[in-house]
Amino acid sequence: MSLYLRDAVVVDWRTLKFTPGHLEVDEGESGGVRIIQAIPEKLGADDRVLDCRNRLVTRSFACGHHHAYSALALGMPPPAQTPADFQQKLQHVWWKLDRALDPELVLISALATALECARNGVTFVIDHHSSPHAVEGSLDAIAGAFAEVGIGVLPCLELSDRDGVAACEKGLAETGNRLASGKPCLVGLHASFTVGDDLLAKAVALSQKYLSGIHVHAAEDPVDQETTFAYYGCRVVERFKEAGVLESARTILVHGLHLDRDERAILKGSPAWVVENMESNLNNRVGFFRGEGLSSRVMLGTDGMHSDMLRSAQAAYFGGIDPERAGLTEIYSRLRRVHDYLQENGFSGDGENNLVVLDYPSSTPVSAENFLGHLFYGLGARHVDSVIARGRLIVENRRVLTVDEEAVRAMARAGAEKLWRRMAETA
Ligand SMILES: [Zn+2]
Repeated sequence: MSLYLRDAVVVDWRTLKFTPGHLEVDEGESGGVRIIQAIPEKLGADDRVLDCRNRLVTRSFACGHHHAYSALALGMPPPAQTPADFQQKLQHVWWKLDRALDPELVLISALATALECARNGVTFVIDHHSSPHAVEGSLDAIAGAFAEVGIGVLPCLELSDRDGVAACEKGLAETGNRLASGKPCLVGLHASFTVGDDLLAKAVALSQKYLSGIHVHAAEDPVDQETTFAYYGCRVVERFKEAGVLESARTILVHGLHLDRDERAILKGSPAWVVENMESNLNNRVGFFRGEGLSSRVMLGTDGMHSDMLRSAQAAYFGGIDPERAGLTEIYSRLRRVHDYLQENGFSGDGENNLVVLDYPSSTPVSAENFLGHLFYGLGARHVDSVIARGRLIVENRRVLTVDEEAVRAMARAGAEKLWRRMAETA
């Protein structure tokens, strides 16, 4: 089966070159795309033609760090006790929320997140999941929900010592089971300050056994550095290096705000990746990301704030102007580096046949030369008209084709009420 995009303006996601023409899109995990001279006159019964007149077509987006489990937090009542700092915010909000998740709420959160991704032209997500009281089967459930909507996912469980040894062992077993079955998965950890040496060693051993990588928050707040130094006598990146975390090109360190010069040099000399999440950092008042001293292995995420990578890129640019003076080209590169991470590490499902069709009626000229100006100052999720994931049309003319959007939203609203009620009961 082929999908044809008629009369599109194709924007090459690497060079930004504009090419008017028709596109032939193959279906499948490793399907390709080709610009063709004419749509075939005789089409197969399963072939589809999408009219893309006055539309820009480019590679869809992918998210380098997400928390689908936080989907039902949108609009929830504030905690009874206002958190005074980052650690209290974890204790009074996020750790309370993830402990209240049951298997049904995990599934609903994943469906709601995948739905938002589809609407925003995000076709692949690297997810960091936590539901300490609903661990078993959670990774497959999340992957299944994303697949139902048509979104690719590289999941993991964010393990920590905060819920005791039994929860840790369950999480390691859940991660190990998924890795053993050959499905895509990373070994997730919450952060250095919540992970003891025993868990850290077990996680690295599991990662090495299956040639996976570690996905962990790092130096998001000074508390991570202070606690690590107090307990282990070294800084976060030094500890991770000693433990073998940084040896894999699949390893992802999230945030990396409070790194000293030596830690930046260690990271630069390792194959590990770093993910910037500007809006989350602003929201938590934990500081500003700076690419200084790091390699180009930096990608962007949403940290569970939302599922809109255009918005994340714009926040990274505007929030970074003062602290690091990164230009449009640098931030665009960070937006797109996630594709390189996934491809170089052999994770399938994020190939060239993942596309977004943009209905962008600009009042000023749009060209290869000024496309980044439009991407950062003009484009938004509201311009996402259609989305193609692994060659399959999953959003057409702003309508999600794969799931009943209203049914998913109704289920998510009911789930949110249940979750908020449970959180209030444990106040
Ligand atoms: Zn995170």
